[in-house]
Amino acid sequence: MGLSLSQKILLAFVLVVLASTALTAFFANRSAATGLNVFVSQGAELRAQRLAPSLSNYYSRVGSWDGIGALLERNLALVDGGNRPGGPQRGNNAQRLALLLDQRIVLADGQRKVVYDSDDAIVGETLTSRLLTSAVPVIVDGVDVGFVLFAQQENNALAQQFTRGVNRGILLAALGAVVLALIMAAVLSRQLVAPVRRLTLAARGIAEGDLSQRVETSGGDEVGQLAVTFNQMAEMLEAGETQRRQLLADIAHELRNPLSTIQGNLEGMLDGVLPLEAEQVATVHDQTLLLSRLIEDLRLLSLAQAGQLPLNRASTDVKSLVESVVEDFKPLAESKQVVLETSLGSSLPQISVDRGRMSQVLANLISNALRYVPDAGRIEVGAIAVNGSVEMSVSDNGSGISDADLPHLFERFYRVDAARNRSAGGSGLGLAIAKELVDAHGGSIRAESKLGEGSRFSFTVPV
Ligand code: ADP
Repeated sequence: MGLSLSQKILLAFVLVVLASTALTAFFANRSAATGLNVFVSQGAELRAQRLAPSLSNYYSRVGSWDGIGALLERNLALVDGGNRPGGPQRGNNAQRLALLLDQRIVLADGQRKVVYDSDDAIVGETLTSRLLTSAVPVIVDGVDVGFVLFAQQENNALAQQFTRGVNRGILLAALGAVVLALIMAAVLSRQLVAPVRRLTLAARGIAEGDLSQRVETSGGDEVGQLAVTFNQMAEMLEAGETQRRQLLADIAHELRNPLSTIQGNLEGMLDGVLPLEAEQVATVHDQTLLLSRLIEDLRLLSLAQAGQLPLNRASTDVKSLVESVVEDFKPLAESKQVVLETSLGSSLPQISVDRGRMSQVLANLISNALRYVPDAGRIEVGAIAVNGSVEMSVSDNGSGISDADLPHLFERFYRVDAARNRSAGGSGLGLAIAKELVDAHGGSIRAESKLGEGSRFSFTVPV
């Protein structure tokens, strides 16, 4: 199992703190050591220069370096002696001298042979050229009679103390930074990980079929945007599911009506309640026609809604299209004594459409109009060119549609007066199909109506 997001954040923070601490420690130590060296060696040279004239005096007085060690230590014991009990002993004084200056004092004669060393390490040896570079010559009458230098002690207590101080500071800072990093990581992972966990829980809920799952959407960062998108997705899924259930219920309901009529009629005939005559069988036949039309409409609608309706587009003449559909309805209109007219604009352009589907849209609108105009009513089918598209329309002077019903007309199975329309053979799918077919052609359809005055259905198709 891999690390959790919080653990990764925590680890990253601690690693960054440790790495930066290590780098800081390295560079701080280096520059502190260099700085301290320069400071100390500059001080050492200055001291040697101050001491050189006194040593020169001593040499010109005595003529050799004999007894210089004792003198140096005594003098320093005088400076410092009052503070320390135990008397002026050689070892004590040498240590005190080194301690006081925090440096080792070395004196060599004119031949660079060491005559005094507060550390007693190199007495009698010749000064190395390394030590000689920091030595100050002691001059008597223009001759180098000796060299004095304050050398760095091997175990420079001051330097060690200084470095220890720097390191302790860095360690404390690192500890503080680690604590801060832990707090920051905790806060950050709360802010980051908590919403991700909520999303995971909600997604699991959806996977298990609970489509009502939503998450809190706080903040506009990436996780916040993810939450918003997640909610949109859940909403879509839920709406789709509701729609699917509703559709199933609607279809079952619509199929039941003609089926129960058929069943009732057939049972009546079998039981001898209804006469087994051609007229009765014709009623049953009508219902089966209704059923198969309903099923065909549903198939068409579901194909169109899924975007899977094949369109055989071809350049089509609007005038001939409208006229041929109107021609088909002439006999039905005449039987109802309804005036069915066309009103076609001049210079109608050619449109690239599936002629069969376009005819179906017009036919649906005209058959609706025929159903809802009274005898001796009027229906006008028009077509005009309007900026870049052709608008076709079917207007009638029928019953009209109320404002409350208008927005729902294009929904499947929506009927203004369900009982009456069903008996009149309406499936409630005609306008829904018309809308899908127009949409598939990249156009749009709309309805205008005034109750009692008539309706006008129009749709556009881009040229
Ligand atoms: P139907 O198959 O029931 O006609 P549609 O989808 O074609 O279904 O129409 C939906 C409803 O719109 C109809 O039930 C009817 O109430 C109303 N409608 C459609 N066209 C007209 C019209 N020209 N005049 C009045 N009402 C109409």
